[in-house]
Amino acid sequence: MSKTRLVFATGNQGKVNEFRQMLGEDYEILSLKDLDISVDIVEDGATFEENAIIKAKTVMEATGHMVLADDSGFEIDCLNKEPGIYSARYLGEDTPYEIKNAELLKRCEGVPDEKRDARFVCVIACAYPDGTVDTATGVIEGKVAHEAKGEHGFGYDPIFFLPERGCTTGEMLPEEKNAISHRGIAIRKMVDILKKKGTA
Ligand code: IMP
Repeated sequence: MSKTRLVFATGNQGKVNEFRQMLGEDYEILSLKDLDISVDIVEDGATFEENAIIKAKTVMEATGHMVLADDSGFEIDCLNKEPGIYSARYLGEDTPYEIKNAELLKRCEGVPDEKRDARFVCVIACAYPDGTVDTATGVIEGKVAHEAKGEHGFGYDPIFFLPERGCTTGEMLPEEKNAISHRGIAIRKMVDILKKKGTA
């Protein structure tokens, strides 16, 4: 049986590898780099879901293949869900996360624990050549920490505190975090959708 070809619209090879592992042998997963194309994507959606769909559809239209794309970010309730869809761009794309995290902690100073709810969200969209789309969402709920902690992970991990574990995701080993993360949840849901469709 020939493999189903699927393009993952991301520049992040780590994400491509993660998906390859989870989907197994029935799929040939290509990155934009493998296809050697660059596609101009205007990420102007108002939600993670809209942005994931925009990315997947744009690349599907450019390649004619079935395309997966993801969008993720960090939401803090007491800051009106900032940085949200602007997580990568918050305070500027090239600003170090020590500065972004310090600013968010400062803005949350004095906020009591019960009002410090925060979460990581990940939406994965799959755009099919017939124009239809599926989406899968993964969420991990926690709190904004009171101080940045941990050397693992990336981005906002040092200030995302999981009360049931008593640590930030920045203090967790990669395999521990992947097992419970928003991205892991969304990937597993999307793999289920693809398998149920019989394409895997
Ligand atoms: P993207 O989906 O890779 O574009 O991620 C958007 C942004 O959300 C990242 O640049 C980070 O700022 C933030 N983010 C998403 N997932 C995580 C995570 O697991 N840990 C820390 N920050 C994250």
